[in-house]
Amino acid sequence: MSTPRVPGAGDRIELPCGESIGLSELDMGMREFDCACGSTHALVMDVHPPARFLPEFLVDVLRETVETTDEAEELGTVHLMGIVLEEFPDAVVAEDVSEDGDIGCGLVWITDFDARRLHEIVVELIVDLMEHAVSHANDEDTITEFEAEMREFDVSEFVDVYRAERDLEGEHDTAV
Ligand SMILES: [Zn+2]
Repeated sequence: MSTPRVPGAGDRIELPCGESIGLSELDMGMREFDCACGSTHALVMDVHPPARFLPEFLVDVLRETVETTDEAEELGTVHLMGIVLEEFPDAVVAEDVSEDGDIGCGLVWITDFDARRLHEIVVELIVDLMEHAVSHANDEDTITEFEAEMREFDVSEFVDVYRAERDLEGEHDTAV
């Protein structure tokens, strides 16, 4: 008979930088944290909506155009982070913390980069994904239109504006 794993304050997640963080230090409101290595690492939980990174309309477009492998689930944060993990396997750790009732989520991802950089990476990867989807559209007009839009699209600028807007909306999240 196997001994069930008992989650407790002693459980820690090993980070890509070599440091670790205790599960008891995590909470759902966290988006990033300062690490002992001197860097700031982004923290994402599966309960965070994909709107943390992408505007709702884009999430809707993606849900219509991108097929997810697990049919029951529509495109969500789990898929976004799956794409990031695939692209940066050495810079992302994923941990199943569903056994730890205190945190209140199932999966946690911690990245070597901070929350802003992660945001840029998510947007860049999603744009790539959409380009790929559009290129299979078999519709020259759609492709041309999309490519023109993308030439105008500045990821860094988008992320700045989006984060500023979200900060305003979520004022209660910010310490006064
Ligand atoms: Zn670190």
